[in-house]
Amino acid sequence: MSPIAVQPTAATTSTTTTTVLPTSIETPPTHPDLIRVDRGTKAFSSSAVSLVALPAGSLFAKITTATPSKKAYTSVQTGANSHIELNSDLVYCNHSCNPSLNFDMGKMEVRVVDDRDLKVGDQLTFFYPSSEWDMDQPFQCNCGAGEGICKGLINGAKKMDGKDLEGYWLNDHIKELLQERVSS
Ligand SMILES: [Zn+2]
Repeated sequence: MSPIAVQPTAATTSTTTTTVLPTSIETPPTHPDLIRVDRGTKAFSSSAVSLVALPAGSLFAKITTATPSKKAYTSVQTGANSHIELNSDLVYCNHSCNPSLNFDMGKMEVRVVDDRDLKVGDQLTFFYPSSEWDMDQPFQCNCGAGEGICKGLINGAKKMDGKDLEGYWLNDHIKELLQERVSS
């Protein structure tokens, strides 16, 4: 049983990194069995909602349509100096300080967080500093995770206190960059 529904992308003609607001992208669903995209009417207000229930730590989706890109607000960092565009509805997974998913860019897979099951109707979110070292567009978080949990300004792991990153699953490149920061 594979939950992966990858559509053949016949028309992947655009390899540019043009920043297109999610609200203006009207493409067919890439994960119709997994993700419902709620398109907001304002910029940056779209979100992704889970159509499936999965146990903590399990595979949600493989990342199969990524292409190398420059750092942009839609890109995901995969290494100290590398970024990709997801080219799928996974791009609608917003940041949360209490996320439902981990984006593992070493294994190129998206998994349910290790400490909480995923339920149908849950917001699909991940902790952006788990992949992003230095963010293209820092933003004031309003994830609603609550006082003491929400980190406020989200600006990439580089600018965050080590204690604010404790307890989060982090990609290897972020762990390595944090290690370098400590020892420099
Ligand atoms: Zn938050």
